[in-house]
Amino acid sequence: MSQINYQSKQQSDIIYKMSMFSHVIGNQLFHDISSEEYILQPHQNSLFDQLLNLTGPKNDFFSICSKPEDLKLIQKLIDDRVILPVDEDETGYYYPFLVDIETNRHCNAQCVYCPQSESRKKKGVMSQVIFDNIIHQIKPYDIEWVAFTHYNEPLLDPFFTERVIQLRENNLKLYFTTNATLLIQKVIDFLKPNDLVGVIFNLPSIEPEEWSHFMQLPTHLFEQTIRQMEMFIDKFSDKIELLSIFINGTTENQDSRRDNIDKHFSKFGNVEVVNQNSHNRAGSISNKYTNSYSHINQSHFYGCERIAGHLHVSWEGKCFLCCQDYYQSITLGDLQKNSIKDIMSSNEVKKLRGEIYGVYPMRQNLPCRQCVQLRKKRNVVSQIPY
Ligand code: SF4
Ligand code: SF4
Repeated sequence: MSQINYQSKQQSDIIYKMSMFSHVIGNQLFHDISSEEYILQPHQNSLFDQLLNLTGPKNDFFSICSKPEDLKLIQKLIDDRVILPVDEDETGYYYPFLVDIETNRHCNAQCVYCPQSESRKKKGVMSQVIFDNIIHQIKPYDIEWVAFTHYNEPLLDPFFTERVIQLRENNLKLYFTTNATLLIQKVIDFLKPNDLVGVIFNLPSIEPEEWSHFMQLPTHLFEQTIRQMEMFIDKFSDKIELLSIFINGTTENQDSRRDNIDKHFSKFGNVEVVNQNSHNRAGSISNKYTNSYSHINQSHFYGCERIAGHLHVSWEGKCFLCCQDYYQSITLGDLQKNSIKDIMSSNEVKKLRGEIYGVYPMRQNLPCRQCVQLRKKRNVVSQIPY
């Protein structure tokens, strides 16, 4: 009996907090490691404001609930470890579910809103040995998709077909972005709906001259590119999860460019045509076609899911910070030498994750300080524009 009393006292002495990976957008609570989403009822929004700032024994969390469903939610958050002991160091926590592989590093275009237009990358192709190793290492995780993307045109990769076959053999799915100039019939015929989670076309205009201006490609490639997109949309519409055309370049006519593209391609199938907030890519580009962001006066921030659940691998097999780090200025480790787990839970990466999630003040020279995706608050009304 005395032992039971002793144990329950120990339990009640434990102080809890909300996980540093939790944050609220509108009526949803997200957790960056588990990728769980919790839908809030209208009366629970203020509850979350209180929760995010609360530390105390479990009972303190239950005591702010006014309805039975609130109690249930708190219990679920405890069970899912979204509420967890305050002395637990979360900076080493990481679970990859999205993987960006730079299968090749060059692009045939130089879009004015892309850092390739300001500092063009030289040709470089990932070896199959490095690619094999990455596939082998990511296989044990529950990977939602693999992208062959980092400011490149993935169809310039001479091993594109072989790599897609490897994904097939390993039950992994591809999500790729393309400018569609090389999306020839042979590639369209080769790809199967089952290979793909989604495809994003980068198409800034349906007017040949304007397209050529934005992408810095010769006008004569325009017609063929549009025809290839039409064939692709015709084949894959409603057969893959996501099929989108992104309209980049922050100009006054961005809406009308979007409308004209939508009107043209809606004849070929269901495709989402979306205006993009072309941004400075964490300080990698600055011109009139992009919006700039800078957070120099804040010291603590509220996270970015890239360092919690994404993996970005360079053509040389090195892990780097994220999709916004054009220059791969923050290298985290070499997959040819170490495992994903060893790299992503090293002391250096723990420190970095701690800075991004506000455990430590953020150093001044991190690209995150110029990135649209860094959370400045933990509870926001709407999604950060991307
Ligand atoms: S936006 Fe895409 S297509 Fe355009 S230059 Fe960059 S990588 Fe190439
Ligand atoms: S905040 Fe931006 S630069 Fe930093 S990890 Fe996230 S996406 Fe990358």
